[in-house]
Amino acid sequence: MNKLSFFFPFLLLLLWSCADNKTNSAKVALDEALPQKTEQNNIIENKLEKKTKTIFPAFLDLNFVMGKFEPNNREDFVKIDIAYADQEGRYMQNDAYDSFKKMHAAAKKDGISLTIKSAARNFTYQKGIWERKWTGATLLEGKENAAIAYKNYTERAIAILKYSSMPGSSRHHWGTDIDLNAFTNSYFESGQGKKEFDWLEANASKYGYCRPYTKLGTDRSSGYQEEKWHWSFRPISDYCTQFAQEKIENEMFTGFLGSEVAKQINIKENYILGISSGCKH
Ligand SMILES: [Zn+2]
Repeated sequence: MNKLSFFFPFLLLLLWSCADNKTNSAKVALDEALPQKTEQNNIIENKLEKKTKTIFPAFLDLNFVMGKFEPNNREDFVKIDIAYADQEGRYMQNDAYDSFKKMHAAAKKDGISLTIKSAARNFTYQKGIWERKWTGATLLEGKENAAIAYKNYTERAIAILKYSSMPGSSRHHWGTDIDLNAFTNSYFESGQGKKEFDWLEANASKYGYCRPYTKLGTDRSSGYQEEKWHWSFRPISDYCTQFAQEKIENEMFTGFLGSEVAKQINIKENYILGISSGCKH
């Protein structure tokens, strides 16, 4: 061993201890320069912290965000006129409806017809959709029996989650989200469907509407497959998303077949929050 390689570790140690002393003394100087924390300072800090916390509108609570209510019993929901929907008895949130009507009129002027094919769906309704797919009573995308194709519950849930939400996690619970005109992406890719889609992409934001389920990939990394028919009224749904982000836990998804895999799949992060940047607060 030559002399240099023998002394090298000691040299390193010496350099390190000098550097450490320097940072320590700099830290002491900084601490002295800062005002010392007093009880008064703590009170001010606590007040500031409270102020920056999200203040949610009064109508928001866990039961609402998870769809545990009857739309016809809510004062802030309204029955959609048949002129705007494919069938009677659909409901949506007041403000979302008012804005939709304006968008509908503007679209009509441009030769575009918009029809609501689904709007508010509560937990019970969503449970029906989910469980029919879970048991195979409804085939996935019209062709696959999930109960036969997927014996493993996690795999079965993920297959259903391509297009359907677990009860309690759907944006349709909020009355802010609507499905327009058709339920296939291909409809919106040519002819009249493409004209409708292009019109919405260019104009919906003027009426507060955004499209949460854009193509999976660069815009969002997790969640449902693309849905060119699903639109969301941001002025209200932003609050709902934020409320869900702060208050919902995966353990809260219970009361339907397959709910036990919600945590493993991380429904909250991957699906509720798996939305386009255009629909994020
Ligand atoms: Zn939808």
